Amino acid sequence: MEQSHQALSSKSEAFIEKENKYGAHNYHPLPVVLEKGEGVYVWDVDGKKYYDFLSAYSAVNQGHCHPKIVAAMVKQAQTLTLTSRAFYNDQLGPYEEFITEYFGFDKVLPMNTGAEAVETALKLCRKWAYEVKGIPENQAGIIVCENNFHGRTTTIISFSNDENARKSFGPFTAGFIKIPYNDIEALENALKSTNNIAGFLVEPIQGEAGVYVPADGYLAKAKALCEHYNTLFIADEVQTGIARTGKLLAVHHENVQPDILILGKAISGGVYPVSAVLANNAIMDVIKPGQHGSTFGGNPVAAAVAIAALEVVRDENLSQNAAYLGVILRTGLNEIASRNPLITLVRGKGLLNAIVINCEEDSDLAWDICMKFSEYGLLAKPTHGNKIRLAPPLVITETQIHECLGIIERALNDFR
Ligand SMILES: *Cc1c(COP(=O)(O)O)cnc(C)c1O
Repeated sequence: MEQSHQALSSKSEAFIEKENKYGAHNYHPLPVVLEKGEGVYVWDVDGKKYYDFLSAYSAVNQGHCHPKIVAAMVKQAQTLTLTSRAFYNDQLGPYEEFITEYFGFDKVLPMNTGAEAVETALKLCRKWAYEVKGIPENQAGIIVCENNFHGRTTTIISFSNDENARKSFGPFTAGFIKIPYNDIEALENALKSTNNIAGFLVEPIQGEAGVYVPADGYLAKAKALCEHYNTLFIADEVQTGIARTGKLLAVHHENVQPDILILGKAISGGVYPVSAVLANNAIMDVIKPGQHGSTFGGNPVAAAVAIAALEVVRDENLSQNAAYLGVILRTGLNEIASRNPLITLVRGKGLLNAIVINCEEDSDLAWDICMKFSEYGLLAKPTHGNKIRLAPPLVITETQIHECLGIIERALNDFR
């Protein structure tokens, strides 16, 4: 099938041409060139307004250019931006106190991107395994799930099963055991197969895989198994965390407190790269000076921005809003699905949702549907071929959700 094309303005085309010519081709963006964002909306260079139903992969949960977060950034940027960790600064300590109390952990290790935070968690888990659990040096195994997405570093792609993300990037890092997602028996078998398991790394909902929600009870049972086998339960909440799924963390749906929590994306409201790894002293204290770090990790701007971003989540009740509007969105999508066989499945939690399109994974139909959404003023992107993720900023209102359901149905009807 041929991919559909919307008539692009010459202004948009010029920007796209520059990215094509001067930038590495490591992404395949929808042909929309954005220049402004506010709340749930973004505008392209021709002044056309869209609902943002990707939210930068859930980094802008608080809405685009949230005034409180931007103000915190500007104020700090005009005062002190970077000291490195060679010296103390007056922002980091208060931020560390704030975020550890906010999520209920003893300590935080600040980094910048999600992938860096995952790397940090893996290193922390291994070090704990050798120095506390007593696994012989170089023998620690970490269990991961099939179809995971944890980022793009060499170690992280070592345990991906996305061949496109892996091909020609080897040799890979050893020490990972892959099991099917949402399979408690597979987890128990892997845990009891050897005494050398250090941790279990899991996404509470697999976002990139197509918003794959595990069975109720999976996370709680997995945590209990990890406890039984003295293995660390490591939750990658880079995409699911910070109110996205209708609770502050997706693991809270099952009252689970991970041993290691990985956060990124919306911890800054999408204005600045901020990530964090949280754990209690018994784990975090294995890291000593010189053993891990980052020039920008925990810088004053990041600290000020993250406090403001987390305050907005609490003050504006974004978890409650995501829970409430998620139900309305999925109900509406299921109603559309009952009238239009193009949608075969609706799934998700809170405002992290996906529709599965009735076509093969390698078909262009989901892409063409996203082009049609964009024509009608809503931006979304296919993930894994035939799934379209629908994840607006959590500041969206009920009226806006209904308007978006109208756009989605109108666009889908054009394909009948
Ligand atoms: C996006 C994402 C990452 C990687 O974050 P980056 O900031 O892109 O490095 C890791 N884990 C999950 C679950 C993600 O969604």
